[in-house]
Amino acid sequence: MPSRSLDVRIVGGGFAGVVTALTLLNGEHAVDAHVTIYEREPAAHTTLCGEGLSDDTLRLFRAFDSAPYVAQTFEGASWFFPEGVEARVHQKGHTMARERWIPAMAEECRALGADYRTGVKVSQDDIIRMSREADVVIGADGPGSVTRKVVGGSHETMLGIQYRVEAQGPSPERLLFYTDKTYSPEYAWVFPRGDLWNVGLLATGDGHDWERLDRFMADKGVAGKVRKREAYPIGFFGDKVQEGNVVLVGDAAGLTNPITKGGMAAVVHAADALARCLHEGKLSEYGARIAAHPMCDPSFRPALESLRAWSNEDFARLTRFAPKLIDVRPGVSTERAYLPVLAKTLLANLGKVGELRRIVHALGVSRAYSW
Ligand SMILES: Cc1cc2nc3c(=O)[nH]c(=O)nc-3n(C[C@H](O)[C@H](O)[C@H](O)COP(=O)(O)OP(=O)(O)OC[C@H]3O[C@@H](n4cnc5c(N)ncnc54)[C@H](O)[C@@H]3O)c2cc1C
Repeated sequence: MPSRSLDVRIVGGGFAGVVTALTLLNGEHAVDAHVTIYEREPAAHTTLCGEGLSDDTLRLFRAFDSAPYVAQTFEGASWFFPEGVEARVHQKGHTMARERWIPAMAEECRALGADYRTGVKVSQDDIIRMSREADVVIGADGPGSVTRKVVGGSHETMLGIQYRVEAQGPSPERLLFYTDKTYSPEYAWVFPRGDLWNVGLLATGDGHDWERLDRFMADKGVAGKVRKREAYPIGFFGDKVQEGNVVLVGDAAGLTNPITKGGMAAVVHAADALARCLHEGKLSEYGARIAAHPMCDPSFRPALESLRAWSNEDFARLTRFAPKLIDVRPGVSTERAYLPVLAKTLLANLGKVGELRRIVHALGVSRAYSW
């Protein structure tokens, strides 16, 4: 570890900004650092999010006591396919009250000596100047990142839209995902958080996405008063996260899981990788370590392409021999548990064997570090 305090500047005081600051200041691989966080809004706040988080990720993030900000806990998640087949993933998860959690983390940053400045919009020139003055500049400025312009490379974005619903009726016992092209090219979700539910979908941007979300709610029997209606981009397939001492985390880095579009786990993992690099005095290795992390597994791109290209009829053919309920359990190979079904499915869909294998692999990788 270096003998003097590191000068660390973080651009963006959202989820990635505060989680990275806390990981550097209070995590397992904490460093001696003076951290300054620049947030353009007048106060720490949450951006749009479904707020679903795996318990594994929450336990990995030990730099802050997040327990008071858990809105609801689930024993798992259910993923539904067009003909009603349900893949039930037995992996504990939560919804988080991010509107309280992120400001509380910002306060904790201050309590640990960080300078959390609000109302400061950082420009590209500011970042270049900071990179000369500071030991490390961390771009945590979200999917429209200005820090990304200094780092170079690119990431893709996709729009997510969501209602916050004051729900009527009993809460589902699991986080619910629906693959159905009637509503979304990827998936729609129902994530309850007490009396308020997050109900949304990954959007096409063709001007009819809100109609599809209304239809989704009606078809799935989700009733209640809509309290909020929001849209926000999600960054994924980032191809570069470092240029010298300027590095990217979170949606600025495009590290969101391309299949699930979960970004909070990616933030926790990237913050951990960065803290380890700084702790070991090996900042130059950050980019390579992120590229080698399962978050950047090469199976994600072809898997996502197939999932986007397949029609509801394709999904129906692929789930024809499946039981109505497929149990997916940690530490148990789903392929082995359902071998006869898988064999029949592969024989009936010989043209899709390669694609299916890549998807199964990508889902396994996702499940191993988040979901
Ligand atoms: C509809 C939707 C649903 C989602 N659901 C989930 C989910 O259920 N689970 C999950 O894990 N992930 C989910 N995600 C993804 C997750 O929300 C993001 O990955 C995560 O919030 C990204 O955090 P971030 O801090 O990188 O970016 P942001 O949340 O965008 O924060 C960036 C911050 O930087 C500030 N900023 C930007 N530019 C500047 C600048 N120039 N100067 C100073 N400050 C700046 C912004 O004001 C903001 O505070 C979802 C995303 C969407 C859109």
